[in-house]
Amino acid sequence: MHNLYRKLCGLLTLTVTVLAVLMSPLALAASTGLTTEHIEGGVYAIIGETGNRSEQNLGNNANFGFIVGDTGVLLIDSGAGTHAAKAIEDKILETTPLPITVVINTGGQDHRWLGNAYFAKKGARIIASNAAVADQNARAGDQIQGLINATGQHPMNNLDIFTAPETFETTYQLSHAGVDITIQHQGAAHTPGDSWVYIPALKILFTGDIAYGDRMLGVIEVSDSQSWVEVFAAMARLPAQKVIPGHGGVSNISTLGEQTYNYLVHLRQGVGEFLDNDGDLADIRKVDQSAFDYLLNYEGIAPGNALRVYEQMEWE
Ligand SMILES: [Zn+2]
Repeated sequence: MHNLYRKLCGLLTLTVTVLAVLMSPLALAASTGLTTEHIEGGVYAIIGETGNRSEQNLGNNANFGFIVGDTGVLLIDSGAGTHAAKAIEDKILETTPLPITVVINTGGQDHRWLGNAYFAKKGARIIASNAAVADQNARAGDQIQGLINATGQHPMNNLDIFTAPETFETTYQLSHAGVDITIQHQGAAHTPGDSWVYIPALKILFTGDIAYGDRMLGVIEVSDSQSWVEVFAAMARLPAQKVIPGHGGVSNISTLGEQTYNYLVHLRQGVGEFLDNDGDLADIRKVDQSAFDYLLNYEGIAPGNALRVYEQMEWE
């Protein structure tokens, strides 16, 4: 009898332990699909999923980065809301116990900035281009609704949206952990306020949404495909050796040039010819993009891209 009681107690303890492990923050962070990749020195990339926003990834279907200093961590992009910011913080805690003291927003998409409030509450500086802040304010409501639909919960979790108090027009220089960092907003790209983040001493480049790897980029309503091509070309002149795109695995500028720059040029050429031939908008799917059908999400995204480039090029 005693023996059976002891066995039952043992079983119960085991069950509770397994449940505790499954529900621990570490397991939770793992399930959001983020993986950390060491780049060089104190510089790391956090690579997110390449599919859509979901209940599991909390809207963090994008890449992030961080630089570990002596007393704090600089974070590139704050995640798609409060839960999403916490998931990024948990991921960074696997590498360092230091607090996140500086946050850069590379653009206006939800996963670039809606986590600002979470980190600002903990005392972090937040930096973004003026154009990104304007875009964030303009689209916050739509972005929050989109995230509620995609993730099944309110992304802000009772915090108010928070845009960067430290803003700049085109260039911002700062130093973190003894490393000089340049943030450059060259013009509109995927969103109106996109910036890249470059570390010259290490030749490491975080492109934000200016470069997409592995998956098809999205031309959305606020994208400017003409300016995007020019911004990418300017960025590609940097002597970067390790490049972390906004989406997709760690890469280099020539591969990303094929998957972002070449695609945009090809798409604009195809849509331009379609317009020259008085193509009807209903036939926009006839614009041939099949040279890029190897990119993830091609089927779902390519037709919409052609449509939005058409809408822009009509006015050029
Ligand atoms: Zn993005």
